[in-house]
Amino acid sequence: MRIEEELKLDFKDVLFRPKRSTLGSRAKVELKRDYTYRHSGRHSETVPIIAANMDTVGTFEMAAALAKHHMHVALHKHYLVEDYVTFFNDNNHPVHQYAFYSLGITDSDLDKFKAVKKATGDAIEFVCIDVANGYTETFIDFVKRFREAYPKTTIMAGNVVTADITEALILAGADIVKVGIGPGSVCTTRKMTGVGYPQLSAIIECADAAHGLGGHICGDGGCTVPGDVAKAFGGGADFVMLGGMLAAHDESGGEIVHQHGKTYRKFYGMSSEVAMEKYSGGVAKYRASEGKAVTLEARGPVDHTVQEVLGGLRSTCTYVGARTLKALSKCTTFVRVTQQINEVYGKAE
Ligand code: 5GP
Repeated sequence: MRIEEELKLDFKDVLFRPKRSTLGSRAKVELKRDYTYRHSGRHSETVPIIAANMDTVGTFEMAAALAKHHMHVALHKHYLVEDYVTFFNDNNHPVHQYAFYSLGITDSDLDKFKAVKKATGDAIEFVCIDVANGYTETFIDFVKRFREAYPKTTIMAGNVVTADITEALILAGADIVKVGIGPGSVCTTRKMTGVGYPQLSAIIECADAAHGLGGHICGDGGCTVPGDVAKAFGGGADFVMLGGMLAAHDESGGEIVHQHGKTYRKFYGMSSEVAMEKYSGGVAKYRASEGKAVTLEARGPVDHTVQEVLGGLRSTCTYVGARTLKALSKCTTFVRVTQQINEVYGKAE
């Protein structure tokens, strides 16, 4: 047994130190980033925030709403082949050029992808190869084989939290490595397994490793307020994936519940009992669920939340003197704190 003594940080452990700036207005801050991907060679110019591939977040409706803001969606993997085909063959190219097709590493996941690909030609630009534990040989081999088969597709793969496997995944063919084990709002991995890594440090360390190889990373999970999204970018994330922050909107999907005159929406982890009942006929005997289900008050159209997130991000940039999102991490100095928010009047909304 070994203990690592070095301090690891979460979003709650830091704040940005404000810096002198010549920026006149937050309206002048450019949030679009352009990336050229290491393996696919493709180029994208987008606001690099991705709705999570959960069936109560990453929907076709969310894709359409976020595309208006040049933001991405990782579509959940439970649509039917014909639904993906309709979506990717739609003439509305701005919508699907931002979409990630998500898959796991089973034969049936791959067969489904092949069927969609066959019917949609080159319409799928991004895929998200997603497993809970990105540390297995099988996963890295899958990424390698997928890269060989689809050299022009931009591959995001995860999840991992350390530099060594970030490098291994990039060398295996991933363009973007998805980073985060255990920080999610409806994740119970840390409770059930005791495994995890503080998310801000995971982002900082994996970004450093990926950038050294010309790769990119996506910080996935743990953002609860716009300031956390800014901290993820400040720590070096090229993309940030959001689940809970985009859940319970009109576009999110999720069963609607009416109670005491109010409207709620169900939101649950993709490894929760609810999800496994829905898609796998229950929790297999050899495993435990690693996600939970919550009921959230319905939040209306996602546009308002998007404006808050992007407005917060622009404001962060003006506080630290970054004219562009690209410059944010270079302009970032984090100060360690023991308190974030004054809660004298209760928890902040
Ligand atoms: P959030 O933004 O809600 O904090 O985190 C979203 C992320 O949580 C997702 O992108 C995914 O990586 C992770 N996640 C979603 N469902 C589950 C689950 O059931 N269990 C675990 N361990 N993680 C989950």
